[in-house]
Amino acid sequence: MSVNLWARENNREAFNVVLDKIFAIVPKESVEFDETISKIVEIPIGSGCELCKKELSDQTPQYYSPFTKHDYCPECAEFDDKTQKGLKRYKVTDTVIYIPCPLRDPSQLLNIDDYKIGKNLKISEDEEGSQ
Ligand SMILES: [Zn+2]
Repeated sequence: MSVNLWARENNREAFNVVLDKIFAIVPKESVEFDETISKIVEIPIGSGCELCKKELSDQTPQYYSPFTKHDYCPECAEFDDKTQKGLKRYKVTDTVIYIPCPLRDPSQLLNIDDYKIGKNLKISEDEEGSQ
């Protein structure tokens, strides 16, 4: 028997309880697991823009790069000089996530599946768009 498993990192314990119940009935050796654990990522609220140093808070819309862990103000992140070509057009060339602060439910930023990052993560239904 082969089983595909998918679990979130922070559900691991509950998941193991279920596994124990399964193994109480089915011998461990008879089951082959293909296991995928989804990492959980937290997105922090920035305190200042990496480029222009403008102050950011949980009251100001902002962008965050989960790869460089830098915060950017919308002016820098959305900067697009159409007279330039390629990456020279932009001030920010990191992949960034738009955080539409102030958030109605800030806990949305604390429990995000890693795999969603990079796939145009939706943080909120009133999100205006991400890069
Ligand atoms: Zn800035």
